[in-house]
Amino acid sequence: MLDIHQFGYGSDNYGVLLHDEASGETAMVDAGDASRALAALAETGWQLTQIWITHHHGDHTAGLGDIIASTGAKVYGPAGISGVSDVLDDGDEFTFAGRPVSVLATPGHTLDMLNFHIASEQLAFTGDTLFAMGCGRLFEGNADMMWASLSKLMALDDETIIYCAHEYTAANAAFAISVDPHNEALHRRAEAVTDLRAAGKPTVPTIMALEKATNPFLRASDPAIRAHLGMAADSDAAVFAEIRRRKDSF
Ligand code: ZN
Ligand code: FE
Repeated sequence: MLDIHQFGYGSDNYGVLLHDEASGETAMVDAGDASRALAALAETGWQLTQIWITHHHGDHTAGLGDIIASTGAKVYGPAGISGVSDVLDDGDEFTFAGRPVSVLATPGHTLDMLNFHIASEQLAFTGDTLFAMGCGRLFEGNADMMWASLSKLMALDDETIIYCAHEYTAANAAFAISVDPHNEALHRRAEAVTDLRAAGKPTVPTIMALEKATNPFLRASDPAIRAHLGMAADSDAAVFAEIRRRKDSF
């Protein structure tokens, strides 16, 4: 088992540290804020050995130069980002603390988006692609592309623990109910999220099975959502596109 330390930065970002006690190796997912990242390392006492970058946006990369300078960590990530030493693409694999880490390209939010999957730990890091009850805005890609990316993530084991990069869950829940109003699991989860946020607690990580049951962006094939949208005969990608379009103006 890896030790995991999630920390907040910015208005709603999450960074994550993964640590293997046996080897002493530590990985960090994304590098948006150097001072918060270095504080998290100081707090845990872990020595950073790897950084995994999901995509080029500043809230995921702005601290990279300073974190490299302080730690000398090796940086895995997409092409075109200053500081990335090991450029990765879909299907690539690298090793962290003796465990294979699989790289899944999930374009849509950006074209360069990479997600990271450690099958042996049932862990996935989905960046700004899959959020708790949500998905990333389509800044660079289109709806077909994002639907294909989310479908790739849905093929992961149902018990996969999902770490995403933002605490957007409460707002996502309100939107989810607007397109999936009769989903009892969704209502129960929305109440749980309200309680967690009222207590100042994170709603991340989540689990794939729970996302499949409550995240409308993964539920384009659901008959009740299709009926609600009047899209019973449309393709899953078209239903997804309509849900994404509605979220943009919610
Ligand atoms: Zn982003
Ligand atoms: Fe982001």
